[in-house]
Amino acid sequence: MIPFNKPHITGKEVHHIYGAVATGHISGNGKYTKLCQKYFEERWGFKKTLLTTSCTDALEMCALLLDIQPGDEVILPSYTFVSTALAFVRQGAVLKFVDSRPDHPGMDEEAIEALITPKTKAIVPVHYAGVACDMDKIMAIANKHNLFVVEDAAQAIDSYFSPTHITPHPPKGGVAPAQRKEMKGTSRPLGSIGHLGCFSFHETKNIQCGEGGLLAINDERFVKRAEILWEKGTNRAEFFRGEANKYGWVDTGSSFLPGEITAAFLWAQLEELEKIQNKRIELWNVYHNGLSQWATNNNVKQPFVPNYATVNGHMYYLVFPDGDSRTRFIAYLRENGIHSVFHYLSLHASPYYQDKHDKRPLPHSDFYTDRLVRLPLFYDLDQQQYIIETIQKFQV
Ligand SMILES: *Cc1c(COP(=O)(O)O)cnc(C)c1O
Repeated sequence: MIPFNKPHITGKEVHHIYGAVATGHISGNGKYTKLCQKYFEERWGFKKTLLTTSCTDALEMCALLLDIQPGDEVILPSYTFVSTALAFVRQGAVLKFVDSRPDHPGMDEEAIEALITPKTKAIVPVHYAGVACDMDKIMAIANKHNLFVVEDAAQAIDSYFSPTHITPHPPKGGVAPAQRKEMKGTSRPLGSIGHLGCFSFHETKNIQCGEGGLLAINDERFVKRAEILWEKGTNRAEFFRGEANKYGWVDTGSSFLPGEITAAFLWAQLEELEKIQNKRIELWNVYHNGLSQWATNNNVKQPFVPNYATVNGHMYYLVFPDGDSRTRFIAYLRENGIHSVFHYLSLHASPYYQDKHDKRPLPHSDFYTDRLVRLPLFYDLDQQQYIIETIQKFQV
């Protein structure tokens, strides 16, 4: 069976883990944590980053940093992973779900403003499949209403938002093959645009260390407190920099930092980022070109990428005309030894939140829940031609 995902190992992970053990410092915030954070800060220009044990944890830090209180409202897509919502719900927030876009599973920027009330505290856009939300629109709404923006960039490492490329209407007939746009001109890396941004290094993501994440702090007002929350509510970081003469308990917090063994593993992956990204983007392009004729003939939609967004090779998905054809397609691939998977059961219809949801229908979110399927895409995928040929024999 060709798996849906297979975590890539570069070969240097164990070497760096030995390195971490040799330093004698295997708790958090040592040499490898600092190397990983510096990589993000130098390569993409993030002002301040903190490695976390997961993206879920980075989002928890956000909910604490924004001081979310019971009854506060948070605006987020329904078509997302549960972690986008979890931290805010834990603080007692009420979720206001935004529907997906008609042309894209990401949240509909045009539907945000109608949900804002005096209780709204934050907007949490998710860059689904690593494809940017329209961050200019979202930041303009946030600034107008004095709201915070937390980017869930879990899937969006090394992907960009380039507002200069905005066209008024999406071009017809799909998109050109994905290209690496360099970070030049007004192009900005995802995760760096909102007040805070969160990344995941879960084994299903482009760059991985099993479980891991990173918080990007783009608004300097949050830096000092983020360091404190990260280190169990203590001012340890300040103390070690000589900025405080006592080290003690000063705020709430948790143990959000990973150990050095995890950081050393992640460092091996970051060293190979260019190679991994080029390969994943190439796989994305081969699917996109190889399936375009078949998709047109069968009324299947390929991913839509707005002109202001880039593809980072995180995910390749197809959208079927109805739920039945998707079910048949997944079964057909399985019979042919290929594991494909559908995606999010929308949060507004989840067993945990459906009774708390304000009952607004979210038809596009439901649409993607019923019709979207993801194809195998991972660094070591070597049977892509077989997958494409198998798909081409399927009639919707
Ligand atoms: C993977 C993912 C997360 C959670 O990441 P973890 O590192 O597993 O906590 C959150 N949001 C989105 C959109 C994701 O894809």
